[in-house]
Amino acid sequence: MSVLNADLHCHSTVSDGTLAPEVLAQRAKANGVELWSLTDHDELSGQAPAAAAARALGLPYLSGVEVSVSFIGTTVHIVGLGVDPGHPALAQGLAGMREGRLGRAQQMADGLARVGIRGAFDGALRYVGNPELVSRTHFARFLVETGVCRDTHEVFRRYLVEGKPGYVPHQWAALGDAVRWIREAGGLAVIAHPGRYKFTPTEEYALFSEFRGHGGQGVEVVTGSHGSADFVKYADTALEFGLYASRGSDFHSPEESRTDLGALPVLPGRLTPVWEALADRIQPA
Ligand code: AMP
Ligand code: MN
Ligand code: MN
Ligand code: MN
Repeated sequence: MSVLNADLHCHSTVSDGTLAPEVLAQRAKANGVELWSLTDHDELSGQAPAAAAARALGLPYLSGVEVSVSFIGTTVHIVGLGVDPGHPALAQGLAGMREGRLGRAQQMADGLARVGIRGAFDGALRYVGNPELVSRTHFARFLVETGVCRDTHEVFRRYLVEGKPGYVPHQWAALGDAVRWIREAGGLAVIAHPGRYKFTPTEEYALFSEFRGHGGQGVEVVTGSHGSADFVKYADTALEFGLYASRGSDFHSPEESRTDLGALPVLPGRLTPVWEALADRIQPA
């Protein structure tokens, strides 16, 4: 049923969220979420505490991860739902990807130092809950704390996106590898927030058709990063490519996120929700 209050995309202190997995579980439950997944970036170590907290609260849970991918020069995110967090192909693939993050962070700090912002490497690390997962978000929090910008969105716009001083291009996983790791771990691959990518229609078509060709099966239609026009557009895309539809807030922090856990419109009724394909992977309440 498409009216289920499922929230299948959010982040904890294990990646770039500000709340611990257990605190997120409580917040999801309090907000009326009926099926929850924690999907930290490139990291599975939050899965056991998230699942345990969900079980204790009587909240149905699906394991999850958000994998960073480079596709024709652009970073794309692929969410894996219902994965076995102990599966070696997935765990090793993600570990390999995390390795580059510290070096990238040092280069980002060097870029910021060139425009007069000192101490950003140590500053960003103070916000990191997991030393293997320093991300642009942690730099953004440091630049807000030090008064360089008013909020994290301003930091990204002025310093952390392509062409700006703190931006460092990075090679993430190949699309085919990310989908394969997720499938081998028993999960279902979902294109995250497609409305955020700056693709031409031809490039976007290539993303969806290659993703489908690799065995990807889902797309986020209702997410915190989509406006109502995107809901309609990606509902059509889901039907065009025969994909299951997913729904997730992409919640990171009470201070920074516009969409809270569970506070999203329902999926359009003409779609097949991704949780129908994952019924046997859900940890029941
Ligand atoms: P990274 O994986 O280190 O490149 O960091 C990517 C993360 O930065 C995303 O998962 C978002 O949480 C955050 N992010 C990206 N763009 C923006 C933006 N324009 N405003 C706020 N946060 C953003
Ligand atoms: Mn993030
Ligand atoms: Mn994302
Ligand atoms: Mn996310």
